[in-house]
Amino acid sequence: MDIHFQRDELEQKARELLKQRGVTIDEIADLVYYLQSSYHKDLTLEECKYNVDRVLAKREVQHALLTGIELDALAEEKKLSEPLQTIIETDESLYGVDEIVAFSIVNVYGSIGFTNYGFIDKQKPGVLKRLNDQSTGEVHTFLDDIVGAIAAAASSRLAHASVDEEF
Ligand code: MG
Repeated sequence: MDIHFQRDELEQKARELLKQRGVTIDEIADLVYYLQSSYHKDLTLEECKYNVDRVLAKREVQHALLTGIELDALAEEKKLSEPLQTIIETDESLYGVDEIVAFSIVNVYGSIGFTNYGFIDKQKPGVLKRLNDQSTGEVHTFLDDIVGAIAAAASSRLAHASVDEEF
């Protein structure tokens, strides 16, 4: 059976999940501003937000959000089987599947996204610092990488769009 979900239905669900996990579009737009404000004079938060919205309209991004958040939430509820439960719950440092999922987002607007992603993943500004706080009992092993990747992809889109309006 071949079922394709409507993209707007998936987008709505992905946005709902982000909200449920406590991440706002404004916070992701702040990350884009953090990455891009020194390269684009007169950059506004509105433009950053617009580019985040465009990224969230992509099916690859929606799929990554649905998958990553599901695993985070199941780990938080201790519903995964071992050893995956412990690996995801403790955000084990040798586990890299969260980053692989994030790469499927970074890829969407070409390779300059990788530089942005690497940078923001190291700096962990704003919402990323909060998502990485292990003391809360919340599990965001996938979401921190996904949010960083959405910001990186939106930054790439912004960079491309400034030279090519059709992108
Ligand atoms: Mg992670």
